[in-house]
Amino acid sequence: MTKKFNIPKTVKTVMDKMKKAGYEIHAVGGCVRDMLLAKTTKDWDFTTNAKPPQIQELFPESFYDNKFGTVGIPVKLTGGDRAFIYEITTYRSERGYSDFRHPDDIIFGDKLEEDLKRRDFTVNALAFDGETITDLFNGIDDLKKRILRAVGEADKRFREDALRMLRAVRLSVQLDFSIEQNTAAAIVKNAYLINKISFERVRDELLKILSLKGAAGGIIILRETGLLAQILPELEKCFGIPQKSPKRHHIYDVGTHLVKSLEYCPSDDKIVRMATLLHDVGKAVTFQKTLEGVITFYNHEIVSASIAGNIARRLKLSKKDTEKLANLVRYHQFTVDERQTDSALRRFIRNVKPENIQDMLDLRTADRLGGGARETSWRLELFKKRLIEVQKQPFTVSDLKIDGHDVMKIYKTGPGPLVGKVLDMVFNDVIAGKLPNEREILLSRITNLKKETEMKI
Ligand code: ATP
Ligand code: MG
Repeated sequence: MTKKFNIPKTVKTVMDKMKKAGYEIHAVGGCVRDMLLAKTTKDWDFTTNAKPPQIQELFPESFYDNKFGTVGIPVKLTGGDRAFIYEITTYRSERGYSDFRHPDDIIFGDKLEEDLKRRDFTVNALAFDGETITDLFNGIDDLKKRILRAVGEADKRFREDALRMLRAVRLSVQLDFSIEQNTAAAIVKNAYLINKISFERVRDELLKILSLKGAAGGIIILRETGLLAQILPELEKCFGIPQKSPKRHHIYDVGTHLVKSLEYCPSDDKIVRMATLLHDVGKAVTFQKTLEGVITFYNHEIVSASIAGNIARRLKLSKKDTEKLANLVRYHQFTVDERQTDSALRRFIRNVKPENIQDMLDLRTADRLGGGARETSWRLELFKKRLIEVQKQPFTVSDLKIDGHDVMKIYKTGPGPLVGKVLDMVFNDVIAGKLPNEREILLSRITNLKKETEMKI
């Protein structure tokens, strides 16, 4: 197939340089797929018959990653300030996958065919030499039909590398493609093998799925293929847990509500999305039904937070992400009663942390919409306004517009318990609303305090 394609100038330069030196060079994989779908891509990968030292000779600025046998070429796109890395990999064939994840050895090949044969899906096994597309497995046809089909025998390919099953789900959401029947059946059959894959690799794919627009649909596909039961069994258990009960607003079972919430989550942040997906995950274990038929989930937010924390640690999320995830889940049940005192609101802010408040409100929006409620209510709106007001007040002594140095200067003293005591007094006046947090006013208050104590003496 020969057709004019729009490729970046930098891609053309790399390819021309390789060709001029007498080597074969093809763009390959996702970039060719996306080019044919008329999607822009910055991630260009190439495959060649040249060996790494020969590639490096042509590109002095390149670096060689021994582990993957890949030469990286930093390129700067016009107008962009970030350098991108184009990856050139020598044709490869792989032999044997006795552990379901790593090829036993990677062997450099000298034929493009070998290299394309080891790729996961037909639409990812297309190569482009600058003029012609090489399509050995009917990838273009599948691209037109919008389907993901394993290259070769699906069952064998997933047994070779079980991560491909998660990639199938992720790519189907990312591209809005369906998974071809045989390929899908092979995933169902081999879903249990995903446990052979390192948690880090599973995490990366899962987080990618969560950040996609169709994330909720992705969770449904994970469920249908049996992968969800393997990677998030805690969530799988939530499907079928009823919540409908007299005087309760819930219309969905717990699992469906969680997926619906994710669907409506207004945040793009993957941790907020994960928290949304897991916010009620403890309901499967706290479920109780009274004789009158009332369903309760006592302390479910505490149990959910603990389960979410366990999941995050299992998936090797960073400490910071783990804490944020567990914290969002832990406090998602916050009340928005207009009779709450300011100090109750302040406690809420302290628990959630000011930098996570918007994320928590996004989780609430998702929770409401995912439960069939309206996006907001006057109570929630009032609560948001009060949050803003309350945050204008200092939260700790260190938020005051004065500090210990000011106290020492006015009192003409050095560090000591007196300084803390004065600061506490001023702080209490400010949070009680007796004084505004303004420097000049606080300084004169301290001066007065000093005078008052002197008079007492
Ligand atoms: P994305 O748009 O997310 O970058 P991609 O298809 O380019 O999608 P990459 O992870 O960048 O995905 O991989 C590049 C190419 O390498 C794929 O298109 C595919 O040909 C091949 N590939 C990646 N992972 C595997 C795998 N586990 N098994 C076989 N081939 C793979
Ligand atoms: Mg890619």
